[in-house]
Amino acid sequence: MSASQPSEWTAAQLAQAVKRGQLELRYQPIVDLRSGQIVGAEALLRWRHPALGLLPPGQFLPVVESSGLMPKIGAWVLGAACRQMRDWLPLQWRPFRLAVNVSASQVGPDFDKWVKGVLANAQLSAEYLEIELTESVAFGDPALFATFDILRDIGVRFAADDFGIGYSCLQHLKCCPITTLKIDQSFVAGIADDARDRTIVRTVIQLAHGLDMEVVAEGVETAASLDLLRQAGCEAVQGFLFAKPMPAAAFAAFVKRWRGVTMNVNEPTATCC
Ligand code: C2E
Ligand code: MG
Ligand code: MG
Ligand code: MG
Repeated sequence: MSASQPSEWTAAQLAQAVKRGQLELRYQPIVDLRSGQIVGAEALLRWRHPALGLLPPGQFLPVVESSGLMPKIGAWVLGAACRQMRDWLPLQWRPFRLAVNVSASQVGPDFDKWVKGVLANAQLSAEYLEIELTESVAFGDPALFATFDILRDIGVRFAADDFGIGYSCLQHLKCCPITTLKIDQSFVAGIADDARDRTIVRTVIQLAHGLDMEVVAEGVETAASLDLLRQAGCEAVQGFLFAKPMPAAAFAAFVKRWRGVTMNVNEPTATCC
C-alpha cells in the first residue's frame, strides 16, 4: 500500500485495510463522579497503516463515509467491540458499559435486528452496550425511534454524542429513547475560563436531568474543569486528565490500578496511542 496523503485515500485502499486486519480499537475510560469508579469505556477506531503508523479516525473516516464503506467498517467496529467486551466479562467490572460510535449511514429501519445479531454472534448481553449517535441521528428522525426503542427494551443504552454542536429539535428530545447526553468537548474545554461555556454546560446538565438522562462530559483535561463539572452535577467524565484511548490490554491494566477519581487526577495519564 502506498503512503498516500490522508485526503487521497481511495475506497479500495480502505477496503483493503479492513481485509488485511489493519483496523484496531482503542478504549478510553468513562469515570463516574458519584462513585469515583470507571463505569465504562468508549471504543475508538484507529487504522494501523503499514507505512504511516497508527492513524486517528479524523484522517480516514471522511473517505470511509464518502466512499460508502461505513456500514462495512462500522460492522467490524461493533463486532470487535462486543467481542472485546465479552472477553472482559470475567474481570467482573460492574457496572460497566462499552460505548460504540455508530454513524448515520449504519442506521435504518432494521438497525435493531442488525445490533441484536452482532450481540448474539459475540455472545454478549445487551446491557453492556451503549450506542453513541450524533445529535442529528439521535434526535433527527422520529421514524427511527421505534428501532432504538426495541434495543432499549433489551437493555442497550443510547448516547447523543457531541451534544451542543449539532441541531436538536427539542420536540424530539422529549420522546427519543436517548439515555445519555455527551456534552461536546468544545464547551468542556472552556468551562474554567469562559462564563458562557459554564452556563451552557450547566444548562445542558439541567436539561438532561429534567428529561431523566445522564450526562457525560467529554474532553476533560484539567482538575479545575473536573471540579466545575462535579459542582454542576455532571454524572460522568471522559478525558485526557484520566487517560488517552488505549489498547485493550492497557485498558484492563488501567482499570486494575484505578483507585478512584480523587486519588488519580494528579497522576500522569497513560501513553497516547
Ligand atoms: P467522539 O466520539 O466524540 O470521541 C471522542 C474523541 O475525543 C476521541 O478522538 C478522543 O480521543 C478525543 N478525546 C477524548 N478525551 C479528550 C481530551 O481530554 N482532549 C481532547 N483534545 N480530545 C479528547 P478520536 O479517537 O480521534 O475520534 C474522533 C471522532 O471520530 C470520534 O469523536 C467519533 O466521532 C469518530 N469515531 C471514532 N471511532 C469511530 C467509530 O468506530 N465509528 C464511527 N462512526 N466514528 C468513530
Ligand atoms: Mg463518541
Ligand atoms: Mg463525542
Ligand atoms: Mg467528538
